[in-house]
Amino acid sequence: MTFSLLGLSPALVAAAAELGFTTPTPIQSQAIPAILRGADVQGCAQTGSGKTAAFALPILQRLQAGPHQQPRRTRALILVPTRELAAQVGEVMRRLAQPQADSPRLKVAVVFGGVSINPQMMALRGGADVVVATPGRLLDLMQHNALRLSSVEMLVLDEADRLLDLGFAEELHRVLWLVPPQRQSLFFSATFPPAVQALADGLLREPVRLDVPATPANEPAIAQRAIRVDEKRRTELLRHLIKENHWERVLVFVATRYAAQHVAWKLHQTGIFASPFHGDMSQGARQQVLTEFRNGQWDVLVTTDLASRGIDIAQLAVVVNYDLPRSAVDYVHRIGRTGRAGASGLAVSFVTAASEAHFALIEKRQHLSLPREQVPGFKPLESEVAATAAPGTGGIKGKRPSKKDKLRAALARTPKA
Ligand code: AMP
Repeated sequence: MTFSLLGLSPALVAAAAELGFTTPTPIQSQAIPAILRGADVQGCAQTGSGKTAAFALPILQRLQAGPHQQPRRTRALILVPTRELAAQVGEVMRRLAQPQADSPRLKVAVVFGGVSINPQMMALRGGADVVVATPGRLLDLMQHNALRLSSVEMLVLDEADRLLDLGFAEELHRVLWLVPPQRQSLFFSATFPPAVQALADGLLREPVRLDVPATPANEPAIAQRAIRVDEKRRTELLRHLIKENHWERVLVFVATRYAAQHVAWKLHQTGIFASPFHGDMSQGARQQVLTEFRNGQWDVLVTTDLASRGIDIAQLAVVVNYDLPRSAVDYVHRIGRTGRAGASGLAVSFVTAASEAHFALIEKRQHLSLPREQVPGFKPLESEVAATAAPGTGGIKGKRPSKKDKLRAALARTPKA
């Protein structure tokens, strides 16, 4: 299969080749013709499988077909959940939007929060054909009358399940209110949990549903390991593994921003080039750290789930779940930072006595069964019973009793009349 056979113009085929994309990936082969036809698409394909180009190429082709007006009208809106992903998707869009002989170069604007709004307002002067945005900043710009969405013909939700999730519900609702209902909607993610599927169904019109399963040929080669360790010795074990295995580009996931700072600092003290990466850092610092990590200036990035979605880092060899993810969906996205575009990778999860039951649940949801390994010198001493009985020992967010749990417990204690 070639991109030409999928119906893409020679200019776009050449632009894709410049990025090293010569053979379409399975999701690209299926999504591109459907999007060119104008159909709504729900595309579910594994992490690192080329979803960005799967929507970027056909969108650009449709936009290049005109009509071209001045000032430019925003005809394609791409929403993403994080600022880093906005920058990444915008970059791919810009590199693919090469000028064609008979049509002007398409303008791609990228907008996200955490940085001054003024340059973004300037960039939107004269309009933009494509806007890549995080929802909050998009709404701010609309309030400043910096752009209008009334001409949007194509709407993409990248990491759609995250955007349809409760955390973004209000902002997304407001954006959807502002884009015309007669539009082409394109939803992409590696996961569509049942809870958000109903929402997606309500927004898509007779969609082409693409569920590209991992086959042995296109499966990301991510070796998964689970190591039993005592909670207090996780940093020591991490340091040991990094040094022993000469790991060079490692993404370590922790549960909190504080832990990201703390673990990075502890590693740094022992001579490992480790940096934190989390939402309390300024946007400038976040961008700088990510660029430096991509350039190999840091060996280890200790991060929250901020880095779990969509971020593409070449040659990222190892992902470590220092704290386990909250859900099986988050597990898929976290480990999917490695093993991208056909490369191989390793995902290591630290399982403590307190988090054993939670990991077993993730395994069950993922149809996985990983042997629990022990590293010589790090034999766990904590027992599961003691760990679950002792309060505050769980390293996982969401382990603490919720208000509902407390209410239930209080009700259970209330003597029956
Ligand atoms: P994405 O899922 O869009 O983040 O893409 C994952 C990785 O695959 C990125 O590093 C892309 O540059 C790469 N990629 C996307 N499409 C292709 C293709 N057709 N051939 C080779 N690499 C690709």
